[in-house]
Amino acid sequence: MTLIRDALEAVEQQILSPHAQLSSATRGRAREERECDLRPCFQRDRDRIIHCKAFRRLKHKTQVFLSPTGDHYRTRLTHTLEASQIARTIAKGLRLNEDLTEAIALGHDLGHTPFGHAGEEVLDRIAPHGFSHTEQSLRVVDLLEREGRGLNLTYEVRDGIVKHSKGRGAVIPCDPAEQTATVEGQVARVADIIAYVNHDLDDAVRAGVIAEEDIPQGCVKIIGASHGDRIDTMVKDAVYATLAAPHNGSAIAMSPQVLDAIVRLRDFLYERVYDSEVVHGDFIKSSKILIELYERFTTDVDLFLKEIGKDELYDTVEKCVCDYVAGMTDRYALTLYERIFLPRPWLIL
Ligand code: MG
Repeated sequence: MTLIRDALEAVEQQILSPHAQLSSATRGRAREERECDLRPCFQRDRDRIIHCKAFRRLKHKTQVFLSPTGDHYRTRLTHTLEASQIARTIAKGLRLNEDLTEAIALGHDLGHTPFGHAGEEVLDRIAPHGFSHTEQSLRVVDLLEREGRGLNLTYEVRDGIVKHSKGRGAVIPCDPAEQTATVEGQVARVADIIAYVNHDLDDAVRAGVIAEEDIPQGCVKIIGASHGDRIDTMVKDAVYATLAAPHNGSAIAMSPQVLDAIVRLRDFLYERVYDSEVVHGDFIKSSKILIELYERFTTDVDLFLKEIGKDELYDTVEKCVCDYVAGMTDRYALTLYERIFLPRPWLIL
C-alpha cells in the first residue's frame, strides 16, 4: 500500500513551483527519526510547534501594549497567527511549500520575551552573552522544549526561524548572511513585517496613541485607507512583484513604491508608537521587573533551582536564568515579581 506521505510528496512535485522547497528534498533533522506515515516533514514540524508549550505562552506575551485587558488588542499569539495567515497566502500564490512557510511563521516568535521589545533590550543589555529573540526562538525549538530535548525540527524550518527578522533592517535583505536557504523563509520574513506594521497601526489607533488621520498620507495613497486594504495591497504586491521579477519567483520581491511605504510606516510606528511616552512608560516599568528578577536569580542559584524545580543547572547560571526570564509570560513575570519582592498583606485579624 502506498503511504499517504509518499502520495502527498508526489503531489508537491507535480504542483509546486520549481523554486519551492520540496518536503522530500529536506536537508533533514539533527537527530534522524522515522518518518510519519501520514505527514510530510514540514507539516509535522508545523504540528510540533503548535503543540509545544512556548507556543501556548505566546497568548500572554505583549505585542506592543502591555498585558492588554482590552479584548481586541493583539498579543504575540494573534500576531503569530496573522503573520502565518499572510505567509500562507503569499506562499500559495507563488506555489511554494505552504507547510514550510506556515511552520516558520508559527515558530518565528517562540523566543520572544515578556513585555515585547522591552524584554529583549533588557536581556541583551544585562546578560553577558547578549540576547536576541530570533536566536532565542531557535534555542527554544532546538533545546528548551521537551525538557532539553527540543523539537528536532528540519533544517529549513530552523533556518527560517533564526533569520526571520533584523529589527529595523532591510525588509528584503541583500546580505547573503541574512538570507534564508529557502524562498519560503523569505516569505515568512516579509509576512511578519506586513502583519506587524498593519496590526500595530490598528492597535495604536484603538489605544488612542495615534489617530487614523496621523498615518502618513503618502503611504495611505499607495497602500489604502483601511486595515484590510493595506494588507491586501502588500500581499498582492509581494506575489505579483515576485512573479514579474527577472528571477521569476526564485527570490521574494516587492515593488519599490510599496516597499518604501512599508519602511515609512515602520519608521512612523517607531517614532509615534513604540517610542511614544505612553508605551515607553510601560517599557521602563517592565524593564525594572525583568532586571530585578534576573539579578535575584543569578545571585542566588539555590533559590533559582527551587523556583524551576531542578537539582542542577544545564548551562551557566546566567544562561539558564536568561532562558527562564525570556520564557515568562507578562502575567507570570508580574506575579513572580510580586511574590518575591512585595510584602504579602497579613490577612488574619
Ligand atoms: Mg514577529
